[in-house]
Amino acid sequence: MTEELVIIGNNFSGLGSAIACARNGCKVKIIAPKKQSILLGGLQVAPNARAALSVLGIDSHIHQKATQLAAVEIKSFDTAVNLATIPLPSEAPTYIGIAREDLYHILMDSCLTNSLIEFTDASLLAISQTEEQTNLALDNGEVVSASIVIGADGWHGKTRQFVSSGVTQQNTGYSIYRSVYPAAKLPASFSSPNTQLWLGKSCHLVTYPISNGRDVNLVFTFSDKKFPDSSIHTILSNHPILGALLNQEYSWHLSPIKKFETLFNWRRGGITLIGDAAHPMAPHLAQGAAQSFIDIACMENNLSKGQSLADAIRNMVTVRMPKAQIIARKSQISGQIFRLNGPIATARNQIIGVAGEIIINEFLQDLWLTA
Ligand SMILES: Cc1cc2nc3c(=O)[nH]c(=O)nc-3n(C[C@H](O)[C@H](O)[C@H](O)COP(=O)(O)OP(=O)(O)OC[C@H]3O[C@@H](n4cnc5c(N)ncnc54)[C@H](O)[C@@H]3O)c2cc1C
Repeated sequence: MTEELVIIGNNFSGLGSAIACARNGCKVKIIAPKKQSILLGGLQVAPNARAALSVLGIDSHIHQKATQLAAVEIKSFDTAVNLATIPLPSEAPTYIGIAREDLYHILMDSCLTNSLIEFTDASLLAISQTEEQTNLALDNGEVVSASIVIGADGWHGKTRQFVSSGVTQQNTGYSIYRSVYPAAKLPASFSSPNTQLWLGKSCHLVTYPISNGRDVNLVFTFSDKKFPDSSIHTILSNHPILGALLNQEYSWHLSPIKKFETLFNWRRGGITLIGDAAHPMAPHLAQGAAQSFIDIACMENNLSKGQSLADAIRNMVTVRMPKAQIIARKSQISGQIFRLNGPIATARNQIIGVAGEIIINEFLQDLWLTA
């Protein structure tokens, strides 16, 4: 008998989960509002995430759109001096930069051509459960009932609130400016196929190429207190090199960084959380979406071994919850190190200059092996 499930959310976790389940013969209904806005910026896909994504059968499409990254260059934000260069794997699974929009379309196209996957263009408004099933009230007036539901509606979604009512997130006092510039409009050094991490005092900048090197993704993280006049114009105009980014017509998108409460349960009745709905995390190790892809690969692996859908999902949670919690914690600690201020920040940069290549290389290898 064909197994059926409903997935709430149609970004990376929702679409990826749908492909994984449909590849194993399950019938999937995805409930989410049809996407209208363009997804901003890029994603670094680390080797652990790259390996996980390969189970979805979309490797050749990813290869066409991605930029393989060769190294992480760590620089001083104040002096632009290179502190350390950490080589990234040259053999598969490699480390790539990809535009969010490109990855979204690859996943969406794979869903649209799969006859086992259907879409309902609606938002989830409310959830109720009986012993046998979950009832989902939608904003188009429909009530959809299902015995198996995956909540892939992100950290601010309804399913996370339902599974753990009262769960909170707080502002950290740090914010992020994001932008994408054509590589041709930037100093040539930004076009190298590397991730650049510029470590400053209470701030850091990450850049990497996307869209086959045509564009560069820029993410500037800063302390709201240290930069009270937080316009990107003021911040960049005080910097000898990054001031070059100002004479451009490209806009920067500002958002606060949240601190998320850890969930020690991802399930309630027939609903199971996945991706950011289950384990939102600080973005400093580029592991948020990565961990979602690993959830999905774990579920796919269970299904491909012949487990029932219910068992595959339950066993995914057992394996994945402790691992995702470790990565979320490491992401938070990395953020604290990136944000150091004053003499401690200077000492951090000196240590990275002396021993950074060995320490950070080992840290990253260990991180990607953990999950
Ligand atoms: C600045 C920044 C940089 C990052 N960089 C990286 C990186 O380099 N690498 C990496 O791996 N991760 C990175 N991340 C993390 C990554 O963006 C997230 O982990 C990822 O987007 C989570 O995907 P998701 O599908 O789980 O959730 P979301 O992207 O939040 O998607 C949720 C979906 O649910 C839908 N939805 C919401 N509410 C409802 C509702 N009521 N009914 C129906 N549908 C609903 C939404 O429309 C959306 O489609 C970064 C994050 C930030 C903030």
